[in-house]
Amino acid sequence: MAYQVSTDEFERIAADALESIPPALRARMDADNLLITIQPEATDDDRARGINERVLGYFQGANDSTFSPSVYPKRIVLLQHNIERWCWTREQLVDQVHDTVLHEVAHYFGMNHQDIETTRLHH
Ligand SMILES: [Zn+2]
Repeated sequence: MAYQVSTDEFERIAADALESIPPALRARMDADNLLITIQPEATDDDRARGINERVLGYFQGANDSTFSPSVYPKRIVLLQHNIERWCWTREQLVDQVHDTVLHEVAHYFGMNHQDIETTRLHH
């Protein structure tokens, strides 16, 4: 079954993943106030946009909000239960969180899936 941890623990694992990002890139993310949000699972809003239980995380850019005049913050959302569902051990969970964070950070820096594949950020 899924390997589950507390929200606090999950946050620590995500924070460690961020630490593995080169300082120069992290500085740009900080300067841009990029948020990393952890949600237990997809919200109704997410589902309406096609985010289902198979999605481990996503990046939401500032121009994502076609329906609103206000500007959303750029953020990376990690879907904790969706990530845990694929993991049987703590080691797998740590790996999966790292992969997901790096994948979404790559999107933040403008990479598409093909770019990510080529640089092997996406395993
Ligand atoms: Zn992606």
